[in-house]
Amino acid sequence: MSDGSHSGSSLLELLRETGDDIARNRRIFCNRDLDLSEIDAIGFDMDYTLAAYAQEALEDLSIELTVDRLISERGYPEAIRERVHTMPGFAIRGLVMDTELGNVLKLDSYRNVSRGYHGFRELSELEESTYRSEAIRFNGERYALADTLFALPEVTMYAALVAFLEETEGERESWRQVYDDVRFSIDLAHRDGSLKARIMADTPHYVTRSEGLARALHRLRSSGKQLFVLTNSWPRYTDHLMGYLLDDMRPEYPSWRNYFDIIIAAAQKPDFFTEPGALLRSGDDYEPGAEAAAGPLEGDTIYMHGNSRDLIERTGWTPSRTLYVGDHIYGDILRSRKSAWRTMMIVQEMESELEHADETLEQLTSIRELEVAVERVTFELAYD
Ligand code: IMP
Ligand code: MG
Repeated sequence: MSDGSHSGSSLLELLRETGDDIARNRRIFCNRDLDLSEIDAIGFDMDYTLAAYAQEALEDLSIELTVDRLISERGYPEAIRERVHTMPGFAIRGLVMDTELGNVLKLDSYRNVSRGYHGFRELSELEESTYRSEAIRFNGERYALADTLFALPEVTMYAALVAFLEETEGERESWRQVYDDVRFSIDLAHRDGSLKARIMADTPHYVTRSEGLARALHRLRSSGKQLFVLTNSWPRYTDHLMGYLLDDMRPEYPSWRNYFDIIIAAAQKPDFFTEPGALLRSGDDYEPGAEAAAGPLEGDTIYMHGNSRDLIERTGWTPSRTLYVGDHIYGDILRSRKSAWRTMMIVQEMESELEHADETLEQLTSIRELEVAVERVTFELAYD
């Protein structure tokens, strides 16, 4: 094998791609070992998994449409248009909204409040200390967790409305009501089709297209994996977005549907993993067919609804040899364990988080060293 030969250079490229040279923020992290050679089928969620959104553009749109509905459906004044807008970097996944006190909270890994805001004013230590007496739990009414990237605008809007109402002494029943108004209005923008219509009308503005996706799926297929799509998005939107991402990317796959063995849209996760829903065939009009889908599943049909037990029975795929990839900790990851699938979570923020962590490593190390020194000196002063 000569250095300059084609096979030599592609082998080197392959080693470079799979070896230790992969930048830390491009690696896969495991909390349990996963041998891909023992996986027969890989399923993918669509939104924020196969389809990466341009976050700021999508937040702009979500906020614009939600504010429209806050005004038309919930009686908020026109003035909020000037006050509620995207604030890149303010909201991150994992933030918690306290719907009783109107605060946005950042928790540490022990669920203690490490920072909080009322509107855009940072909470004082005294205000933060009120959270020390009780653990923050998500099974009650009070705290709402922003656990998907779709939910980040909710956090920004909640903080902006709290700030606006505090400043203008605007009428409000309670902070709970303000949270419910935001939730209702953004949910409506998702459900009434207006958000999807705007994304479909200008997809390149909202969704990032990359040849890497087609290449990765092709590699998986070439190594004998069965691939499937399992998304909560409706068939028309799924067809449009996946077509934008994959149609004509590679000559072997003229249509995006050629990459997948099974496509299920409107899956209603997390119920898909726990409830008995009938699998339906969607027709040319993207509406559910009247009858449950019978017989073997076809690769180029978009199915709807269904449930994981039925999918496992029809395909014969062993659950422990099936991997599901998603971005939603609850709907995609925790619930899909009920079907005993292996899981992989896309946390797209990790890429920039690790970059920042690497950049600030020296400062963080010296802060830690200084903290240790302070502890030592304090101890010596006290006991010497
Ligand atoms: P995924 O492909 O399973 O990730 O599906 C996400 C789908 O959920 C997308 O179609 C979103 O528009 C939709 N979605 C996200 N947030 C909401 C909401 O608050 N209400 C209704 N639908 C939502
Ligand atoms: Mg998703």
